Amino acid sequence: MAFHSVKRPLKVAIIGAGIGGLAAAVALRQRGFEVALYERSQELGEVGAGLQIGPNGVKVLRALGLEDELMRNAFEPFSIMSVTWDEGRLRFCQPLKAIARQKYGAPYMSAYRPDLHNMLRRATGDTPLTLGANCIGADTVGGTAVACFADGTSAEADVVIGADGIRSAIRAQHFGDGAPRFTEMMAWRAIVPMDCVPERIGPNGEVAVRHGEYFGWIGPNGHVICYPIGVNGDKLNIFGGHVTEQWVEESWSVPSSREELIAAKAGWNEALLDMFRHVEHIFKWGIYDRDPLPQWSRGRVTLLGDAAHPTMPTLAQGANMAIEDGFVLARLLARHTDDVEAALRAYPAERKPRTDWVTLKSREQFANNRKASPPPFVDRTWLFVNDVVREEGALTPA
Ligand SMILES: Cc1cc2nc3c(=O)[nH]c(=O)nc-3n(C[C@H](O)[C@H](O)[C@H](O)COP(=O)(O)OP(=O)(O)OC[C@H]3O[C@@H](n4cnc5c(N)ncnc54)[C@H](O)[C@@H]3O)c2cc1C
Repeated sequence: MAFHSVKRPLKVAIIGAGIGGLAAAVALRQRGFEVALYERSQELGEVGAGLQIGPNGVKVLRALGLEDELMRNAFEPFSIMSVTWDEGRLRFCQPLKAIARQKYGAPYMSAYRPDLHNMLRRATGDTPLTLGANCIGADTVGGTAVACFADGTSAEADVVIGADGIRSAIRAQHFGDGAPRFTEMMAWRAIVPMDCVPERIGPNGEVAVRHGEYFGWIGPNGHVICYPIGVNGDKLNIFGGHVTEQWVEESWSVPSSREELIAAKAGWNEALLDMFRHVEHIFKWGIYDRDPLPQWSRGRVTLLGDAAHPTMPTLAQGANMAIEDGFVLARLLARHTDDVEAALRAYPAERKPRTDWVTLKSREQFANNRKASPPPFVDRTWLFVNDVVREEGALTPA
């Protein structure tokens, strides 16, 4: 009598249930893997702020079957407009909604971070999630991946993915490259109701601000980005970037006040300061990144998202890259089920040209923002057009 060996699905343990960890869980489940999530926090959640999802990220969410839900929960800004910091004069205005689908194959969206996070959590279905699981390291032991937690417990799997953010314990263990670099930028994050946005700005009100517009101000010592979020774009997300040599707070995110923000932007356009006067809850963040790593995988352990490639937010691509990582990793694991370590070697080889580009270009954009006459925004077209869903193999920047 012939016996057929029944292959069990590969088991994947994901450390960290942020946007990157959850998106990876959805992608892996879609390919039939058995997934378990481990999150350090006692409660699952995301910071109450906005997030831009580029066409490249939307295309991955589409492949995961989540585009319709995203469209119901996020907003599609009409255009991107830039005005001068002092007079509010128009620098440029580029259509977004009218061209994104045709030019990039998917819309450019803005979302409330907790909405995206909740959407991904729902999409993981009955994937087991252990809260309060503080991972202290992961290793390959005798052909098995083992994650260890601070309470003395451990979890075994075929693969462990460190999606544990910029201060990743797994990255420190395997690729210990010291503390992240303070980028000389901090940012305030706040949300105001859309009805406090002026209809016209600039001398004599020459610039019309339509409802649903994304607009930015570049000035001395920083830039301010405002974009609509919420189902109907009924709230305005404010990102107030500020150049400072030192981040003196111990924490990376601390409560602030509208007065502090207004004081930092003294002399900026009155319409902008007026919007700041409507801010109720506000936090400030130190912005950190790291140099690209030469390698992200060791044995059966790998990294994903900010753990692998933390990035300045100036190109709004960190979470997009995390979402892409999970999709590509799931595809490679599905291709190499018999050789997990080969899949984990192929994964950074495929991803790094893209994520290195984003890290370095995000720094370049920050440097440009500080120039007296900022050059045009770094062109992200190739990133949007060459998407990881369609393409296989390393996507090398044009
Ligand atoms: C001000 C600002 C604005 C931004 N705007 C954008 C934008 O518009 N678009 C965009 O694409 N990106 C943006 N980003 C970047 C984006 O926020 C990050 O790239 C993204 O959140 C990374 O997701 P992640 O899941 O890899 O990491 P995180 O979101 O950091 O998630 C890591 C998770 O792991 C958990 N964890 C940590 N350590 C452990 C441990 N030891 N054990 C278990 N669990 C652990 C954490 O609690 C957390 O839940 C912005 C960033 C900032 C700071």
